[in-house]
Amino acid sequence: KVHNQIQELRGNIRVFCRVRPTDDDTNIIKVHGFDSDTGTQSLTLDIKRPMTNGSVNFQFDKIFNYDESNRQVFGEVKELVQSALDGHNVCIFTYGQTGSGKTYTMLNEEDGIIPSTLDHIIDWTSSMKKLGWQYGLKIKFVEIYNDRIFDLLNDGKGKHKECEVRHDDIGRRTELTNVITREFQLEEDLIESNRRELQELVQRLNKVRRTAKTAMNNRSSRSHSVFIVEVEGFNKDSEERCKGVLNLVDLAGSERMNRSGLVDKERIEETKQINKSLSSVGDVIHALRQGSGSLHIPFRNTKLTYLLKHSLQGSSKTLMLVTVSPSNSSRNETMNSLRFATKVN
Ligand code: ADP
Ligand code: MG
Repeated sequence: KVHNQIQELRGNIRVFCRVRPTDDDTNIIKVHGFDSDTGTQSLTLDIKRPMTNGSVNFQFDKIFNYDESNRQVFGEVKELVQSALDGHNVCIFTYGQTGSGKTYTMLNEEDGIIPSTLDHIIDWTSSMKKLGWQYGLKIKFVEIYNDRIFDLLNDGKGKHKECEVRHDDIGRRTELTNVITREFQLEEDLIESNRRELQELVQRLNKVRRTAKTAMNNRSSRSHSVFIVEVEGFNKDSEERCKGVLNLVDLAGSERMNRSGLVDKERIEETKQINKSLSSVGDVIHALRQGSGSLHIPFRNTKLTYLLKHSLQGSSKTLMLVTVSPSNSSRNETMNSLRFATKVN
């Protein structure tokens, strides 16, 4: 009960951390147990340097250690997915340096957040059938690269056509131009074929992100991907309607690139755009966290925050999941990611 009260006080923004397994036998992160008095969990980062001795502590709503699975992560994320089914707008972000586990957490074929979400939606909507509810899903998948939006589901013609965001501020709706929308009607007799089709879709998403990795000099780590699920429910007995949007965002790698070492104009622009959009996400969440309705919230600063405007405001729910590596060699990047988390927390 105390825990629920604390959660209420914290509002609609949650910050989680996930520590991936080490890749070099070093581990500079110690994860502490959940503190039910504060409703938070903390970790200690060992910052011993040759001449100093010390550590820093960081607090989160929840921390997953290196031995916790994607299923355990989804166990804590499910509640937010359910909120979207109940008619809220929801954003879930993964933030961290390249290699820290963002895509593994979000998209891993059998148990990442995206496939688990789709499974949950199918299970839940089919159980609601007996109460007279019928649902439709609309799915989009886009990439934001250098502050321009491109469709990732369109692998044929018009592939490099830029997408534009259009907001209907009164209806609080967001439209995207030049984008393929996959539609699913979740009627009972279609559910198993829907499940298969959605599994194929997830395989495609993985392939899209992987191909981008090799073919375009690892462009996928320098772009954000946004998986958008719109769920619309209609109750044929009561004629009630319900609509929620879930945005699952795999952010570009947060690693600091050495600007002085960059000679190529394209890389310099890319780096600038990544830094700008990541700090802009931080600024928006920070401003929302401050609460005050009169406060100016800088959605327009980047395409990413502009696209997500209606899913970050009002009664929307946001989760920032920061992924870090416990390896000694990643110490500086891990420190930067944990600091970012503190900023939005
Ligand atoms: P990112 O998307 O942040 O660049 P990836 O998700 O591609 O990183 O992860 C890099 C590698 O580490 C992948 O091979 C992935 O399978 C592995 N990995 C990441 N996190 C975990 C984890 N928690 N458990 C097991 N393997 C992981
Ligand atoms: Mg990735």
